Amino acid sequence: MIHSNYNIKHLNSFGLSCTVNKLIEINNEDDLYLINSNPDFLSTKNIILGLGSNSVFVNDYFNGTVLLIKNKGIKIIEEDKDSIIIEAYSGEDWNDLVNFACGNSWGGIENLAAVPSSVGAAIVQNIGAYGQEIKDSFLCCTTYNPQTNQWKEYNNEECKFDYRYSIFKYQTQLEIIWKIRLKLFKKPKLNISYSAIKEKIESEAIEITNPKQMSQLVTQIRNSKLPNPKELPNAGSFFKNPVINQEHFNSLKETYPQIPSYPSLKGVKIAAGWLIEQAGWKGKRVGNVGMHEKQALVMVNYGNAKGEEIVNLAQEIEKSIKNIFNINLEKEVHIIL
Ligand SMILES: Cc1cc2nc3c(=O)[nH]c(=O)nc-3n(C[C@H](O)[C@H](O)[C@H](O)COP(=O)(O)OP(=O)(O)OC[C@H]3O[C@@H](n4cnc5c(N)ncnc54)[C@H](O)[C@@H]3O)c2cc1C
Repeated sequence: MIHSNYNIKHLNSFGLSCTVNKLIEINNEDDLYLINSNPDFLSTKNIILGLGSNSVFVNDYFNGTVLLIKNKGIKIIEEDKDSIIIEAYSGEDWNDLVNFACGNSWGGIENLAAVPSSVGAAIVQNIGAYGQEIKDSFLCCTTYNPQTNQWKEYNNEECKFDYRYSIFKYQTQLEIIWKIRLKLFKKPKLNISYSAIKEKIESEAIEITNPKQMSQLVTQIRNSKLPNPKELPNAGSFFKNPVINQEHFNSLKETYPQIPSYPSLKGVKIAAGWLIEQAGWKGKRVGNVGMHEKQALVMVNYGNAKGEEIVNLAQEIEKSIKNIFNINLEKEVHIIL
């Protein structure tokens, strides 16, 4: 289905009002071929959209085409006594896939419960939470480019996954992740190492023995900590946790002995939320936007926020983190101009 001059306020979790020149809903392969055979459907600017939980449309008008991915389906490809390979189409809700896996006691993605995402976008930024990342279960994906009519396959290595990154994150060509395959385990080793999980298990003296219980626990923890976009529109973590070199970290540690840090292959990872809180931005509101009172890393829309307000606040925060800590913050959200 094609819509012209369509407002996508309800299609992005930041609740930003933006009218797009064309919105095309894609439900099946015929829709893909239709776009390929009608070059006019596409524009000079084209954007792929899933659930809109990581996309920030900063202008009132987007003079281009939005491809809304809504293809559905989950099926079992093969299994043996230890593992199972499942295939899911990109327009599936990620949480339906997590519930399907956990409902069958298959482990591998239970700690990623309640991450608001479509299946396709989960690959784009290698979603991660509570000690798990999708790359740990990912086998391969199939993509389609409606401009070149080309189908392609990518295995795990070819996606070049990293922290909140895959080769699809900053892609310049219009490559739609169409379906993915995950390998899950029938006797999973549950990962309870993350401190929030450990604390909850200890404080409530509960036992977690299967993926379903784990996904429910993670969902409870997330609900208690993160603002619900339906009540307070937001796009999750606005910035990535920066990685700095050891020398830089050592000097910061002298001034801030309590600075939270995590080992990383490329240096030392610092909690961006802590930096933002130290700089005084936690709970601070500027006009219609602000940094959440419980989660300094989450920018929220208090009402009819304008893209300009978001960009300005982000710039102010980036400037102050640079001034105080000499660290460059990088946005995690996809800013769409
Ligand atoms: C409250 C909240 C909590 C969050 N918590 C987490 C968290 O714990 N961990 C985490 O990693 N993220 C988290 N996020 C961010 C968000 O959930 C993820 O980025 C998620 O993958 C976005 O999915 P989406 O379908 O909404 O993506 P969209 O915003 O629709 O798209 C995101 C990007 O992917 C591209 N894209 C979408 N679908 C496709 C496709 N099929 N093929 C190619 N490109 C595509 C888009 O062009 C865009 O660049 C959170 C967000 C919110 C609002």
